[in-house]
Amino acid sequence: HRLLSQRAVQQEAILATLVLLHPADGASSRPESRLPAVYPQVLAVLRRDGAERWPDAALQTSEDRSRGAGRAALGPIDAASGQYTLVRAGEPSSFALRIDIQRMVPWDTWPLARDGPVRAELRHDTRVIVLQPGSTVEARPAGLTAGFRFSKALDAASQPFDLQLQRATGPAEWPWHWLAGWSLFSAAALAALAGGRRGIRERRRAVELLRVGQVARLNAMGELAGGMAHELNQPLAALLTSTQAAGRLLDDDPPALAEARRAMAQAAAQARRAADVVARLRRLVEAPDATPPRQVVDLAVALRAVLELLEPEIRRCGIQVSVEGGSSAVNADPVALEQIMHNLIGNAIKSLDDVPAGDRSLTLTVSAENGQGVLSVCDSGPGIDAEALPHLFEPFFTTRPNGQGVGLGLGLSLCESLAQRMAGSLSARHATPRGAEFRLTLPLAHSQGL
Ligand code: ADP
Repeated sequence: HRLLSQRAVQQEAILATLVLLHPADGASSRPESRLPAVYPQVLAVLRRDGAERWPDAALQTSEDRSRGAGRAALGPIDAASGQYTLVRAGEPSSFALRIDIQRMVPWDTWPLARDGPVRAELRHDTRVIVLQPGSTVEARPAGLTAGFRFSKALDAASQPFDLQLQRATGPAEWPWHWLAGWSLFSAAALAALAGGRRGIRERRRAVELLRVGQVARLNAMGELAGGMAHELNQPLAALLTSTQAAGRLLDDDPPALAEARRAMAQAAAQARRAADVVARLRRLVEAPDATPPRQVVDLAVALRAVLELLEPEIRRCGIQVSVEGGSSAVNADPVALEQIMHNLIGNAIKSLDDVPAGDRSLTLTVSAENGQGVLSVCDSGPGIDAEALPHLFEPFFTTRPNGQGVGLGLGLSLCESLAQRMAGSLSARHATPRGAEFRLTLPLAHSQGL
């Protein structure tokens, strides 16, 4: 653009100089005839003196325009041959330059490859003069071309040509190696990044799991210790009561041997229960994930054994116990089952502490529903608060003041875990008209093909 603009301005200057010099000796001396030798783009210099006429009427029109504008004006353009005329009106002579555009371009300093892909043209209105053909965008398959276009008017008012450059590219010219290399590099970098991130995430997860595992183990240890205290406290207390009672009975005169023997048998049963609990806890510590040994146990038989153990307490509190329903053979770990029943009935007994002596009743029902053996423990106590209900089975949830019984809040959570380990469940609800009902369900033995 700069080079062509310079040439255009140069042509303006040539004409201006010619008009300015207008030789004094008239038509005889024609220095302009030597111009084509100096300026290769100037093919010919035309001159009109005085009353002469231009060979082409169009030149006259251009001269009129030049006179009006006070500078050179564009004359006829011959796009086919790549030539145009530039006219400058003067007195007494007017001049015109016929210019060959191909020679106007200083090819030696031209910055583009002449047979390269860039198309260069000069445009004026509808006329197009091609400087170099390049390869046109239209020649490419549609949709697979990309192109660059440049368009700017020459910086010479007398020659209002637009210089247009365009470069089309198609798939064949695209830098496939570079693109492929870059894609591979990007993919590898992304993969490395993702891998790194995954590694970090995995390491973090491993550390977190370890931490959670340790906390869980500590919690489990704490729960186990608490559970042990809870489970052993009751048989030990009962053992103490029975042996003290036996001692008193023996001190009687005459000693009440039969009662003393019964009290000692109770004490022995409680001691056995304590030993069973310890054995079960030890098994849990040694093989925490082992499924407990299952046997076919009749809920009604297990219930009778537990009631027998709790009989002294039931009698002491004056509780009316009614056992309903038939027998129901379930699949269970007998020690765990006994522990659950002991806890549920123990809680029911405790709940009756504040109930007037005549109203203390306990209803125990054994039944079978939907392939499950069900034990319902229903008391006539105060029942369960609506706010407490959702938290009953959470460890350490208790409403009992510490002085009143154990009050560790571990009994029900332990029972629920035990029930779940035997593929059973434990639920609680407020009973009607009053009191609480706890329901233990366990898979019926025959439903498992035993
Ligand atoms: P703890 O007996 O040590 O408090 P539990 O887990 O056995 O722990 O019981 C949690 C709570 O559930 C008790 O504090 C009590 O509020 C409530 N609860 C349990 N059984 C009964 C029941 N039969 N009647 C009313 N509330 C009960």
